[in-house]
Amino acid sequence: MKRRDFLNVTVGAVIISPMLSSATGQAAASIDPPPGLIPTPVGEAGKWFMNEPTRIGWFTLRYSDALKPAARFVQEVADAKMNLLCLTVGGSFAFYPSAIPFHEWAPGISKSNDFLGTIAREARSRNIRLGARFDFSKQSAESVKANPGWFFTLADGTHPVDASGRTPPCINGDFFRKQAVLIMKEVVSRYEPALVYLNNFGNNLGGQNLPDPCQCANCRKKFLQKTGKALPQTMTDEVRIFLRHCTYETGRIFFDELMKLSPSTILINADTTPTHGWHSETRMVIAPSRLWLYITSEAVNRQRTSYPASVTCNNVTSYSSNSSRLVLMPGQETRMRLFQAIAHGSPPTYVATGTMQQDDQRDLTSAKEVFQWHARNEDLFGNTINPAKVLILTKPESAPRGRDIVIQQSLRGVYRILTENHIPIVVSETMETITQQPGRFDLVIVTPGAPIQGLEKFVSNGGRVLYIGEEPAFAIPAAVRVHDLTNVSYVEVKDQHLFPSLKGLTYLMATSMCPYTVIDIFSKAEVKTMRFIEYPEEKGTSLSFVPPMIENPAEVSQTDLKHTEIPAVLLRNHGTGRIAYLPWDLGALYDRMAIPSHANLLTDLVDHLLPKGRQLESDAHSSVEMVLAYQQSTGRHLLHLINLSGQTQNNYMDAISMGPIRISINGRFKSAKAREGNTGLPVSYNNGRSEFTLPLLKEYEVIVLE
Ligand SMILES: [Zn+2]
Repeated sequence: MKRRDFLNVTVGAVIISPMLSSATGQAAASIDPPPGLIPTPVGEAGKWFMNEPTRIGWFTLRYSDALKPAARFVQEVADAKMNLLCLTVGGSFAFYPSAIPFHEWAPGISKSNDFLGTIAREARSRNIRLGARFDFSKQSAESVKANPGWFFTLADGTHPVDASGRTPPCINGDFFRKQAVLIMKEVVSRYEPALVYLNNFGNNLGGQNLPDPCQCANCRKKFLQKTGKALPQTMTDEVRIFLRHCTYETGRIFFDELMKLSPSTILINADTTPTHGWHSETRMVIAPSRLWLYITSEAVNRQRTSYPASVTCNNVTSYSSNSSRLVLMPGQETRMRLFQAIAHGSPPTYVATGTMQQDDQRDLTSAKEVFQWHARNEDLFGNTINPAKVLILTKPESAPRGRDIVIQQSLRGVYRILTENHIPIVVSETMETITQQPGRFDLVIVTPGAPIQGLEKFVSNGGRVLYIGEEPAFAIPAAVRVHDLTNVSYVEVKDQHLFPSLKGLTYLMATSMCPYTVIDIFSKAEVKTMRFIEYPEEKGTSLSFVPPMIENPAEVSQTDLKHTEIPAVLLRNHGTGRIAYLPWDLGALYDRMAIPSHANLLTDLVDHLLPKGRQLESDAHSSVEMVLAYQQSTGRHLLHLINLSGQTQNNYMDAISMGPIRISINGRFKSAKAREGNTGLPVSYNNGRSEFTLPLLKEYEVIVLE
């Protein structure tokens, strides 16, 4: 999940998915659509980030950390085998003797004590790259007094002040557009960072707790220019889009200036394009937010698959929340999340408040174990792609660091079923993944809100597509009606020929009780109904729709049960391809309830549609996550196995060792070597497949296939 869903908190509730309808939104805005969220490809000089075995220590410093010994900090980073040290360098406080007015020096900084200068020098001498993190969101009272026009302005003309006495600048004022650019350029020219990261880049972001739009002269003038209207005093969808435009325009100044000054430096802006990529964040789950076991995997998988020419990293955030920074994630979870990240192709990235001098050394020790494993086996990392043959198409992220939390359930359910069954998958939010390599995928699974333009051609040419809760634009008849239901309807299994795994079962749930609330770390939305789309009756359909009925009390339950021939699955040949379509949202149901019959139904349909069988088969327990990688520079296939069995409710214990695990993979590989056990696994061949057995899986393993 992306970290700050603030823009999505309210906007998310406005988005209406085809299958799950939530609250309807405000009137359409008269402003141009906001800029897209497509990251910029990195140039040749920036390819190191994904192609080399990068390991990132990411430190959000307190200003008091400038008093700590810088050389020792770098030595500890080196001992932990981190090779990119990203740390807060400036923005609100300068960790170096800045010459820019009002860029307040952190305690202890002087012309003769340049904390950042020492860090940069010590890092360079150990071949550790430097990442410069800027957060411009809090400025001093002196700065506000001297330049009130730079700052976020309330309706009464005053400026908001936080608990530390500081004020956020406005994205449209000359602090962001001039002064902050000078600060970035000062750091880049003095210390030559390989990465620049911009945090809290915009107005009304989550960390600022400012709900209403800034009323400064620049905002009012710009809003009038863009819409012909006066700027409202309270937040609206139109103002949110306006702010996306403004943030983009200011972000572009930074991007262009940085590329002029240092074309090889990578820029990650957390909140707007242009950016060389998006980072995602993994944080502890605090109830009532729901656990999402594959949060790290899916975020990295999606970015790597959708935007392979850009960068991504998943920041495993140590602190339990922004409001409890002294209490850290359980060490076992930290290791598991870092293993998920590296298996899917992210540099391992560990985020801490402060330096390596943590008050909870246990979590840091866990992180170091993964970094050291990565360093000992660094030939396995970098320059990899995920060669899975099943692609899930999903709805694009709705804002920087934001998703539609309602529709996300549909993706999560499908992702989880396939991963629990060891079916290798990639996730994309763009059709380009298919149009650029139409022959790459054996099966495409479409989830609600996914981009589907162009899929007809893919199917006509022999492609296989499974639509789940998203209507195909071809090959099926017009819908008879849409049932927006608040109670339970069912699917009746009429013919088990297509669904051997549903043996002994007659009914599956098609819609659940509504309304219900979806809660994510920063946002909340209500699902008012679930949908079943009715199509003309099909004699002999293998799954049929059963409308809601009397369920209570038990004595009279099912007295009005109706058997129908309304199809709950539609199967069609089209051109030389084939589609299957479930006109109800199996993914959202599995995400919430995890009823095994939904998983059985889905894997049976996947098997029906896969012409040459599954790419990977295994008898491993469902808590073993398997991830395929193909390393382009060496031509090796790598099978990552992550043992998730330590996950219990929302806690994490040590994983239970497992084995033997039998694995069968499509293709003929001469050798299979388990890296952790340092053992060759005897390979046998059967029908175009290579088969081998891993004797024991502890917490993590990579099997190298050559
Ligand atoms: Zn403003």
